[in-house]
Formats: sequence, C-alpha cells, structure tokens
Amino acid sequence: MLRLYTHPACLQHDPGPAHPESPARLRAVLAALDRDRFATLDRIEAPRASREALTRVHTPAYVERILASAPATGTLRLDEDTLMSPASAEAALRAAGALVAAVDAVMNDPASRAFCAVRPPGHHATADQAMGFCLFNNVAVGAAHALAAHGLARVAIADFDVHHGNGTQDIFAAEPRVLFLSSHQSPLYPGSGSADETGAGNLVNAPLPAGTGSQAFRQAWAEQLLPQLDAFAPQLLLISAGFDAHRADPLAQLQLEADDYAWLTARLVDVARTHAGGRVVSTLEGGYDLDALAASAAAHVSALMG
Ligand SMILES: [Zn+2]
Repeated sequence: MLRLYTHPACLQHDPGPAHPESPARLRAVLAALDRDRFATLDRIEAPRASREALTRVHTPAYVERILASAPATGTLRLDEDTLMSPASAEAALRAAGALVAAVDAVMNDPASRAFCAVRPPGHHATADQAMGFCLFNNVAVGAAHALAAHGLARVAIADFDVHHGNGTQDIFAAEPRVLFLSSHQSPLYPGSGSADETGAGNLVNAPLPAGTGSQAFRQAWAEQLLPQLDAFAPQLLLISAGFDAHRADPLAQLQLEADDYAWLTARLVDVARTHAGGRVVSTLEGGYDLDALAASAAAHVSALMG
C-alpha cells in the first residue's frame, strides 16, 4: 500500500509570483496523483512536526526563529532565494511532520511505503540556516526520527534532486548510522557534493556534468551509488525526490526523462525489499517545469507502488 501525505498549508506557502518554487508545483503533483489515476493511494493529512522532532536536526534557536519569522503580510526574505509568506511556518511544520508520520507508518506496517507531497522542500536547509528554498530539512527530520524513535541502526537517504543536498549532508556527515547518497549536476548550486566529500565514510557523492543524459545517469546509480546502498543494508530507505534533473527543467541541464525516475525508483524499491522489508519513505524536493514535474512524480509514485 502507498500512503500519500500532504496538507493544504503546503499550497499556501508562497515565496512570490516570480519565484520558481511556487504553489503551482504542488498543485501539478497532486493533479497528477488524482483519484482517477491513483485510486488506491491512501491519502493522509500531514500532522505538524513536534519541537522534539525538529530539534533533532535543527538548533532550538533556528526552529524558534523560523516559527516566529512568517510575516503578517507579503514576504520576508531569509536569503537570496528563500522567502517566507504568512503561511510558511505552518507549511514547514506540516512538511516536516509528514516525514515523521510517514516513518512511523512504514515502521508499523512494513508492507507499506509513503510519498510526501509537501513544500517547502528541505534538503538544502542546514542545522541553523535556511537556504535554497528550504526551511526545515524534512528528510533529515524523518531520518533522525527513525534513529531516535524506532531505534534503527542503519537509515539510508537517496537524493536524486539535480542539486546537491548540502543540508542533509551537513546534518549527518558525522552520523555513521545514516548513509547519504546523492547524484547531482556539478558545477551547480549549492556548489558542494564533490566525490571526495565522504564524511564519516557515510557520504556517497556522484557529481554529474551538464548534459549527462539518461544513460550516464543510470550508469552512475547502477555502478557507484546502488552498490554502496546495497552494501549498507539499510533498515529504512528515505528518498529526496527532486525532479529538476528532467530535460525540461529551467534550473538545470542534466537531461533526464520521466522514465529515468521510474527506473531508479524501481531499483531503490528493490534494495528496500532486500534489506528493509520494503520500507521506503519518499519526499518531494525540487522540480520546476510543471508538466515535467507532474509526469516525473507520477512515474516515481507508480514505481513506488510497484
Ligand atoms: Zn533541486
């Protein structure tokens, strides 16, 4: 069974009309996952993340600052490209809370998987810094919850967003119970993610040049990333599912097709079936061409159900 976590507040977070991380993104994803085409999805309203869950990965001062910063009207700029609107704190709480609830659900029902259709995205947020459209690091909150609340010893995070998940890497660079694997375009924002960034031996970075395309992307996962994921034998697999490596995306040039996301997701589910009782929790990160995002998310979710 596939659980779909989302919340109306995630549609209200609005960084402004010219911003690529728009509410229309989530509307496109939810339309692609509608009840006609995805009748069997178990649709669940995401709860708010608790302070306890958030402060496993963020400093208490940062959590309080984000929760207090949403402006009464208009937008507040946290950095060059990360803004808050009146609904942003609530959206951020629900986005992180989706991961916590999804981890609880798949730990209690090992035959199930989950997709969190949430925004703002999370993988650039560090312990104490908002950046790259991200406020709370949703996938990191989920991984830390799996360690602390479920006592897991091996949690893997696979990040195929076209940008490097610098925040997730920073948060877990000294935490060997978490394996972080990332494919990303390089050079590109945020500039981190070279192959020699290995942390405590728990970081696997596969930087790819602009124009990489489907074949070389699949080869990087098949030859570099998936073997290390398999060797780690995760008890739970989390996915930072950004779809901005699609050839239509305006922010990057990795030149993938929607079918590449189906292929990689199926491989990731295979690893989870082998080691983790099939337990997978995926969450939406980037993806800025609405049609490509919708098609890619549908391909990903179909493969998660497969
Ligand atoms: Zn991205």
